[in-house]
Amino acid sequence: MAIDPKILNELKEALLKEKAELEADLKRIAKPVDAPRGDYETSFDEVGTDREDNTTEVEEYADNLPVEMTLEKKLKDVIDALGKIEKGTYGICENCNQEIDIERLKANPSARTCIKCN
Ligand SMILES: [Zn+2]
Repeated sequence: MAIDPKILNELKEALLKEKAELEADLKRIAKPVDAPRGDYETSFDEVGTDREDNTTEVEEYADNLPVEMTLEKKLKDVIDALGKIEKGTYGICENCNQEIDIERLKANPSARTCIKCN
């Protein structure tokens, strides 16, 4: 894999920044189950115990769940990408094993596949 070390470093920085942002967003609506692996569980504030409060909590949970799942999926992509940098397999399409175009990686450092396989 012939990614320029300087560019690779920039992509790694971008991934680390994205990871921190995603974790901060997730923490607001979810609690970590296994944070290093990016596993989170949607949580909701304990508003109260009477029926009206519980309805609010359930509604909040229903609103947060899809957001949490999207963030968690993205976070896992980022964590996997960082792991690939460590292993030296970063930038290889998971589908066809070809190198992913560097411009695509710059636009989306956590991309798992090349443009053709996307
Ligand atoms: Zn591919």
